[in-house]
Parts: sequence; structure tokens; C-alpha cells
Amino acid sequence: MAEAKSPAPIAHRPSPNDSLMARFNEAADLINLDQRYRDVISAPERVIIVHLPVKLDDGTTRVFEGYRVIHSTVMGPSKGGIRYAPFVDLDEVKALAGWMTFKCALVGLPYGGAKGGITLNPKIRSTDELERITRAYTRMLKDVFGEDSDIPAPDMGTSGREMAWIFHEYSRIYGYTPGVVTGKPLHLGGSKGRVPATGWGVMLSTMLGMQKLGLKPESSTVAIQGFGNVGSWAAKLLDDQGLKIIAVSDHTGGHYDPTGINIREAVKWLKKNGTLEGFEGTRISNEELLALDVDILVPAALENVITEENAANVRAKLIVEGANGPVSSNADHILDGNGVVIIPDILANAGGVVVSYFEWVQNRRGHYYSEEEIRDKTAPILTEAFDRVWATHEKYGCTLRIAAYIEAMQRLATGIDLEGNF
Ligand code: NAD
Repeated sequence: MAEAKSPAPIAHRPSPNDSLMARFNEAADLINLDQRYRDVISAPERVIIVHLPVKLDDGTTRVFEGYRVIHSTVMGPSKGGIRYAPFVDLDEVKALAGWMTFKCALVGLPYGGAKGGITLNPKIRSTDELERITRAYTRMLKDVFGEDSDIPAPDMGTSGREMAWIFHEYSRIYGYTPGVVTGKPLHLGGSKGRVPATGWGVMLSTMLGMQKLGLKPESSTVAIQGFGNVGSWAAKLLDDQGLKIIAVSDHTGGHYDPTGINIREAVKWLKKNGTLEGFEGTRISNEELLALDVDILVPAALENVITEENAANVRAKLIVEGANGPVSSNADHILDGNGVVIIPDILANAGGVVVSYFEWVQNRRGHYYSEEEIRDKTAPILTEAFDRVWATHEKYGCTLRIAAYIEAMQRLATGIDLEGNF
């Protein structure tokens, strides 16, 4: 029996790929991008669908559908995470792969973009089942993955554990190859600083954005949607910077405390209970969290949680996109009209892929950096990208998102030119 696909959560619509293409076209129009580049950038290079027959713990067999989309290898081997969620579909994976291309180009990494996913609910699968599924996926994609061709990493629903299985399965076939995947546990060649890296980049982007808007940490409030890898680390690190986190949420709902949520206690609660359900604070819905009267809103869960239907309710001054694609393209215009500044995903959450790049470099050199060295190498890359995006936003009078796309597209166009005719 094939694994049933659950309908996308309401918030998950409209199509993430449509949102990606709308921004791409808006940015391309603004700089009169030649059609040749538009054609190359807008079509993913490879789209792979796999069906994985896997024996479940009860002895029955279930077929899981998985995807890997290689959006672009113009700038280097394709790089991008693997998502496990019940609503994963091809449209979503295509969009996520495209965002990886833009993100890597924006921050200047020698990578193209890819993304993978398997339609499954990791919460109802045992560890043994997840291991068999992950190993089956790796065997099916053994000729696609490679440290010089396509390098996966964790995304929603996956972590270092799944990366360890991929690394091990791949190395069984081809010999020891730690650089085939990033986000590995430290003992298997992972990088110091990789686990908090995306949340750390979100914190850094928030601080840079606040400086531009004249917001002071000690008097700024924050609401964070999603309390997984990205959301919980962003919460902890923003809390360390003196901002007051007044609401957090996960898929079970939100918790609101105008005096400030105790983030360390929330992390402890999550570790013990697996979700935030039952944690302190007034219960609020995820929808209510997005409309709170805060200075900064960090959506760090799903795509399209802010659409044209609820964008007008947003009261934050600054949105920092921890998640990929949390704001739909139509919502962008409403938010911009209301003076809400958005630090876009391809900039705000790029810390993860930058540290993944350093993990890959360390694996290939066999020489490992301290966490301090990782931070010292990552911070200037993100800060320089932020400054370039800000300058482009001022030059064209466009949003930071469109400026980030312009910056990425210009690099991609140069790469396409240098590749020559193909
Ligand atoms: P994760 O699986 O660790 O956490 C996801 C969080 O979102 C969990 O708290 C979950 O409960 C919550 N969530 C799920 N459905 C929800 C819903 N309907 N409403 C509210 N919350 C919900 O995932 P993650 O790695 O933190 O990724 C989160 C987002 O950040 C994704 O968009 C991902 O693509 C993006 N991202 C992740 C990384 C990374 O390094 N992990 C890097 C860049 C971007």
C-alpha cells in the first residue's frame, strides 16, 4: 500500500513554486533580465520521483513517494535539504530547490540548488522504519548524491540522525565519503556550530535589520512561529541579545506571555515532551500569533503562513523569515504597502547553508575548525550579503526580497555566461 498523502495544511497554499516564480519575474523585470537567463533559471535541471517499498514494523510493506529536484548546478554541485512531512509534494520540493539556488548564489557559495523530500509523517514512524526509509531513499539516489554532484542536508522533519544514515549507506556503496551530506552529527564529521547555524543567521539578520529600522533590543518584542531547529535556536539567541520573546508556537499551537517567555524552560519542555503542548503562557493559535502586536515576527515553520488573507492583520514592523517561503507573493505587496519590512528567507536563513559549506570544506580537507572559527567565517559572509541586499533595495527602490533576488540573479547570469553556450 502506498503512503497516503495528507492534504496540505490550509496555510500551505497557494503553490510555493508560484510564489517563487512571481518574485523571480518581478526581479527579472526590474533589471530587464534577458530571456535566455530567465529560461535557464526558471526550469529545474532534473526532477526525480522515487517510490520506496519499505517493510514496516508490523511486517507489512508500504511504498513511500520521495523526490529530489536539482534546480541548478550552474554555480557548483547542487546543495539542499531533505524534508519529511505528510504534505511534501513535487511543487513544494521544486520551490525549495529553486530557493536553494538563489540562496547559495546570493551569499556567494560555490553551490547550485536542490531539495529532496519524502511524503511521510515522521511522528507516526518508528526510528527503525525511518532508518529503513532513509536508507532506501539513499540507495535509490546513490547516483545522484555525491560530494561533487549533489549534497543533501537536514530540513523539516530530518536532523543529524537521518544525515548519519545517508552518509553511512552511501559510504557502504562508494567508500568513506563524509562530504556527501552535511548536518551530520559531530562524531561523524559534522561541523561545530551547524545545529544552531540557521537560527544564528536569523538572529544576526534580525540584529542587522533592527539597526536599520532604529529598533533597540532592550525594548523590542518578538513572536516566533515554529519551535524546531530554526525557531528554537533563533528564540534562544535573540533572548541572549536581550529581546523579549513574548510568543512561541509549534504545530500544537502557541503560547503567549506579554512579560516574556522563558526560552530555556521552553527548550527543556520540548526535549522532555516532544512538543510545546502544555507549556506555560496563555494558549493562542498559530493564526493569532502572526497577528500579535510585536516589533518582530519570525515565521520559522512552514511556507505560505502569511497570505493575502491574513497579511493585513500583521502588526510587526519587521518580519525575519526563518522558514523558506512563509510569505506568499501576494502578501508581500500588502505588507510592503503597510510599511512592514521583510528580511527574506534566502538571506535570513542562509546561515545554515553557509555552515554546511564549511562542514563540506572541513570533510574534504580533513581539518576541523572550532565553533568560534566557524562563527568568525560565517558572520562576514552574511553581513556582506545583507549590506549588498540593502544597497540594491535602495538603488532600485524595491523590497529587500526583490533586491535579494536581483543580487542572486546577477550572479547566476554571470555564471551562465561564463559556462558559455550549452
Ligand atoms: P523542524 O522540523 O526542526 O521544526 C519545524 C517546526 O515547525 C516544529 O516546531 C513544528 O512543530 C513546527 N510546525 C510544523 N507544522 C506547523 C504548523 N502547521 N504551524 C506551526 N508550526 C508548525 O524544521 P526546521 O529545520 O526548524 O525548519 C523550519 C523551516 O526552516 C523550514 O521552512 C525549513 O525549510 C527552513 N530552514 C531550515 C534550515 C535548517 O538548517 N534546518 C535551513 C534553512 C531553512
